[in-house]
Amino acid sequence: MTANEIRESFKKFFEQKQHAIVPSAPMVIKDDPTLMFTNAGMNQWKDIILGTRDPEPRRRADTQKCLRVSGKHNDLEEVGHDTYHHTMFEMLGNWSFGDYFKEGAIDMAWEYLVDVLKLNPEDLYVTVFEGSPEENIPRDDEAAKYWAKHVPEDHIINGNKHDNFWEMGDTGPCGPCSEIHVDSRTPEQKAASGKTGRELVNQDDPQVIEIWNLVFMQFNRKADGSLEKLSMNVIDTGMGFERLVRMMQGKHSNYDTDVFQPIIKAEQDITGLKYFTFEEETETPISKDQDNINVAMRVCADHLRAVAFSIADGQLPSNAKAGYVIRRILRRAVRYAYTFLGQKDGFLYKLVPTLVHEMGDAFPELKAQQQLITKVIKEEEDSFLRTLDKGIGMLDKAMEEMKSKEEKELNGEQAFRLFDTYGFPLDLTELICRENGFTVNEEQFNVEMQKQKERARNAAAVENSDWVELKAGEQKFVGYDYSEYECEILRYRKVTQKKNEFYEIVLTATPFYGEMGGQVGDQGVLVSENETIEVIDSKRENGQTVHIVKQLPKDLTAAFMACVDTDKRDASAANHTATHLLDYALKQVLGDHVEQKGSFVSPDTLRFDFSHFEKVSDEQLREVERMVNDMIRQDLPRDEHRDMPMEEAKKLGAIALFGEKYGDKVRVMRFGPSCELCGGIHATSTGRIGFFKILSESSVAAGIRRIEATTGKDCEERLYQMEDILKNIKSFFNNAKDLQGVIQKYIDEHDAMKKQIEGFQAQAVERAAQRLVEKARIMNGVKVVAGVVPMSPAGAKDLAFKIRAAVEGSLLCVIGSHDNNKPQLSIMMSDDMVSDHGLNAGQMVREAAKLIQGGGGGQPHFAQAGGKNVDGLSAAIDKVVELANL
Ligand code: ATP
Ligand code: MG
Repeated sequence: MTANEIRESFKKFFEQKQHAIVPSAPMVIKDDPTLMFTNAGMNQWKDIILGTRDPEPRRRADTQKCLRVSGKHNDLEEVGHDTYHHTMFEMLGNWSFGDYFKEGAIDMAWEYLVDVLKLNPEDLYVTVFEGSPEENIPRDDEAAKYWAKHVPEDHIINGNKHDNFWEMGDTGPCGPCSEIHVDSRTPEQKAASGKTGRELVNQDDPQVIEIWNLVFMQFNRKADGSLEKLSMNVIDTGMGFERLVRMMQGKHSNYDTDVFQPIIKAEQDITGLKYFTFEEETETPISKDQDNINVAMRVCADHLRAVAFSIADGQLPSNAKAGYVIRRILRRAVRYAYTFLGQKDGFLYKLVPTLVHEMGDAFPELKAQQQLITKVIKEEEDSFLRTLDKGIGMLDKAMEEMKSKEEKELNGEQAFRLFDTYGFPLDLTELICRENGFTVNEEQFNVEMQKQKERARNAAAVENSDWVELKAGEQKFVGYDYSEYECEILRYRKVTQKKNEFYEIVLTATPFYGEMGGQVGDQGVLVSENETIEVIDSKRENGQTVHIVKQLPKDLTAAFMACVDTDKRDASAANHTATHLLDYALKQVLGDHVEQKGSFVSPDTLRFDFSHFEKVSDEQLREVERMVNDMIRQDLPRDEHRDMPMEEAKKLGAIALFGEKYGDKVRVMRFGPSCELCGGIHATSTGRIGFFKILSESSVAAGIRRIEATTGKDCEERLYQMEDILKNIKSFFNNAKDLQGVIQKYIDEHDAMKKQIEGFQAQAVERAAQRLVEKARIMNGVKVVAGVVPMSPAGAKDLAFKIRAAVEGSLLCVIGSHDNNKPQLSIMMSDDMVSDHGLNAGQMVREAAKLIQGGGGGQPHFAQAGGKNVDGLSAAIDKVVELANL
């Protein structure tokens, strides 16, 4: 079976078992401060499991794009070195929210693997939780009983808390789990090892690996560490797709399957190097160099997928947060390609067509954004390769120095600087050093690394206290219909961040729109009979609005009126609606390739990032503005559909964003021809926007442009400011009617006068030169031209050169000039004064400038110095003549 067929068979199997087949959530998570990337199938169901979202339909299944490169699950360093961990992989999963439990999950998993896919049951082993006496949790005999229906006892293995007890976090849902492991050794390997598959489970044997984990959530862990029964049992399973494909295709490495082979083939074609598959490797043992090539090819094939999918999901490489994680993955690939595949120029971007060809059908976002993905990867590669070059230059210099000092070890601080500034990990520095006969002080490096980690930790430290629950229940969001609403406090907690303290409050019902989808959170107040509490911000977490307040109400159980600051909200709403119109107009003017890549909407301003490959011209911008303002004047009414089935929305032509998570029911926001899926707060009609004006258009990254614009009141204010400036300028010109003409005339006159003044100055220099040369003394055969003149520093330099050109033979010329009460000393000499008399103008000017309280320098035959004391000029001139010692 091909990989695509296997993916389809999984969906079909669970569909037949009454599961709703749902799309993968985006890999990049936008609205959860605790998690940057989806790292398991259950992430998108977190709020159902926590009880804040409707669990219907209770059976679901999907294939989820996951990325495990940060936080709790970080497999990055393994990737490429082993053959079964990836950064990005697909996790096949099925869920039951309060429907079937352990028996159903175990039976279905078995039926799928053995009856449908025909994996050999003799190679399958399962684990069950051994229990934890100190926590008073017994062994999971229940799971063991159901497994015993399918496998002999000696295929059931007890596992410890680390492997077989799953927890969502320090608190919250948790429970035992059962993993299914596959012994994929060849008969020869089995015979040679003398060990049973059972003995190798969870022993990091690359041929005996876990493929499916079935989690049975049945407990809730409270803040004091104790467990209580969960109100709804949950089944959460995750199976590594690439590992399953490998088992199905009888391979011994994920990279030997049709998921990766086409990419690896493209790598071989480009580099002219060969990749050895598991079989080939077994036949002919490979050298260390060839192993490095193998690892590098795996790294690049894997990382290409992670980076391309992230870009398609809207996360570009950058220098902060999620963007930085993506940049690091990409750089890791570049390093391997550079070091082991001999790729000194961009390489990964050349693999994009193959990736899109292989995966573009299952993941249309790749196909749709191929051009952007290619462009971004190429640009990142180019810029990192330049950095690599610089880093290697720095390392070369360091090694040069060590050689001259006869040292053998690069100090750790330097190695760390290479890491920190040039992205050189220790192993690369060590590799280059080793090749040149040096070592690296690893201990020092680690000390520096530790120091930096501590700095980062201190800077980011946020401390959350436990939630204090005042009432049970979920929060109701009423913000689409109300800006004021009666409520009580459900729960609150204290948060400390960099010594700042504030509180987060969740209400029974709220009109506050928490920051989401680029629109800033509402501000406002909570009012009770006796007090008013200011809400300084609101954000969205697990589907709920969290209100941020500086201080808690005295009476926490009072009834409150939650009141949104409607001035600010209306301004934000107008800006948000304007953003939709802008998106529409850009597509009309520039073309359908325009995709939203980010947006920010606040009461004051709006910002819109989109894919487009060149600067938007002034004419195009004007056209966009006209189109938007036209739609504003038409006062198009807001046409909002809540809970519209996704299919219907698509028929309406609603624009969905790549990398955005949508449920089956969506909210559609329509203003005339503009139609988007959106959860934001919008103006009741486009007329409310008032007016729309673009402030700037710029580039934010390869292939991404940014427009900043403003609307309504802010536009009005800007108009007044511009008018005032214009009025002032007019008044400078006696309120001339033809202002442009008058200013042009003024500029022309100014230019002409400037020319005239330059002419006068040249004449003055000419006259001064004549006068000084006439007065010259001859000392010992040397013409000494000296004197004080009022002149600018540039004029004095001119003068000195004029004199040198006018005088034949040996010359010492010393000019003291002053301009705006600033003295300047200039020395000019003929070449023989330097070569025959051994004089140096630079040295002489430094010495003599002391008399004008200044300093300077220059060349041997010409030097200048500025100073403070004009009265010292004559003495300074005498000093120079004296120093010449003629
Ligand atoms: P392992 O011990 O092999 O790292 P895990 O315990 O981290 O696996 P789970 O968190 O239970 O795995 O994830 C469920 C399934 O997802 C695993 O059974 C495995 O098939 C797959 N999986 C986990 N991590 C990766 C990865 N980095 N690359 C590919 N597949 C993975
Ligand atoms: Mg793992």
